[in-house]
Amino acid sequence: LGSEPVSDCLFCRMVAGEIPADVVHSTDRVFAFRDINPQAPTHVLVIPKDHHRTVGALAAADPALLAEVISAAQDVARQEGLVAGDGEEPGFRLVTNTGPQAGQTVHHVHLHVLGGRHMNWPPG
Ligand code: 5GP
Ligand code: ZN
Repeated sequence: LGSEPVSDCLFCRMVAGEIPADVVHSTDRVFAFRDINPQAPTHVLVIPKDHHRTVGALAAADPALLAEVISAAQDVARQEGLVAGDGEEPGFRLVTNTGPQAGQTVHHVHLHVLGGRHMNWPPG
């Protein structure tokens, strides 16, 4: 179910170590690093190491890998102090932008983990 690295894909190149990344979490199949232009005190991107363009493409090709990405996002949130043991839970937001109208700019699926400040809903 693996997919080959895409030579002109920014995130494939970060996984390959060709472009530096501020890595906060890495497993066999999942990679997480700080966003270069953070929109909150915590802004981490969680990606599968395999290249898939969108969350729907990933879900279709390798649903277990999508589950690993979501679990890694939860691990990152805990590491960042956004998950409390009981009661006072600061909270966090997971976002995946798909397509131009939603503002997807990198075509390697990624989950934004955002937290550390109050976030409004709806996001606009
Ligand atoms: P999208 O707009 O596709 O949902 O999110 C792409 C994200 O990648 C943006 O939040 C953007 O700031 C981030 N990004 C773009 N280039 C780089 C980079 O070279 N390094 C890191 N760490 N993040 C990047
Ligand atoms: Zn890629």
